[in-house]
Amino acid sequence: AKRDGRNAYRFFTSEMQAQSARALLLENALRRALERRQLSLHYQPQFALDAGGAARIVGAEALLRWQHPELGWVSPVEFIPIAEASGLILPIGEWVLREALSQLRRWDEAGLPQLTMAVNLSAVQFRHDDLPELVGRVLAGTGVPAWRLELELTEGAAMDNPAMAIAVMNELDARGVRLSIDDFGTGYSSLSYLKKFRVGKLKIDQSFVRDLTEDAEDRAIVDAVIRMAGALGLQTLAEGVETEGQLAFLRRQGCQAVQGYLFSRPLPADAFAEFALARTMV
Ligand code: C2E
Ligand code: CA
Ligand code: CA
Ligand code: CA
Repeated sequence: AKRDGRNAYRFFTSEMQAQSARALLLENALRRALERRQLSLHYQPQFALDAGGAARIVGAEALLRWQHPELGWVSPVEFIPIAEASGLILPIGEWVLREALSQLRRWDEAGLPQLTMAVNLSAVQFRHDDLPELVGRVLAGTGVPAWRLELELTEGAAMDNPAMAIAVMNELDARGVRLSIDDFGTGYSSLSYLKKFRVGKLKIDQSFVRDLTEDAEDRAIVDAVIRMAGALGLQTLAEGVETEGQLAFLRRQGCQAVQGYLFSRPLPADAFAEFALARTMV
């Protein structure tokens, strides 16, 4: 038994070593990714569910992509934590903000409807002193009105230090920027804070949406979130909508907006423009 234990331990450490070697490799590669133009953004359309039963495209969520010449496509699920731990998320996050808002202006010029742009914010960016000023600078530099920018924040980022979160949210709110809570329901946000946080929208996490048609508990959770949001004057957007059945349930419960593969995967900017123009022309 002892020997088994030691072998298990050895196996564990060598696996850990391989993991940290990969993390180190990625960190070093990520340092040069911006200047080498390996980062890009894909955009996933967001839809408002109108009373008449139509789904109208109203916005886009910018999602970061990294293509490395040798490593291939690296998922943000893998490299964002590395970018956060190394501080690289600050320059990368600033680039994402500037690129996403510049793209919004290019879409305006191409004749797309006036969309909003949702940008994911890391807890590290949120904690950084300079955030409200940075957001103000990028808005001014790109000429995008503040109300068209929506910053997505996870519950963890907000609950880490609620007093600071409230202060930062107030500053962003004063500038007219919109805020939403991403992955709602997966974190540990205290519901009492929801009324103090300057957020306008809850994004219902895809883990609750996935089994909606089979799982009564998930239906109960989603129903409760939509009602609570309504009572607090917050909008809801359900993410990860993949089937007509899920969409029908969400619509029935009064969810205001959706995004997911049922409508479109995240797309490169040009493909997004084509998609949006085709959807608005009908
Ligand atoms: P997220 O913000 O919750 O983004 C939603 C993820 O779900 C995206 O994965 C999206 O491609 C995927 N998705 C969208 N619709 C569906 C669907 O119908 N079904 C399924 N199964 N998945 C769907 P992605 O692009 O791999 O991003 C993963 C996570 O990486 C994001 O989760 C976000 O936390 C983080 N991330 C991505 N871009 C950025 C960024 O610019 N900054 C920061 N800080 N984080 C980012
Ligand atoms: Ca998001
Ligand atoms: Ca999410
Ligand atoms: Ca997520």
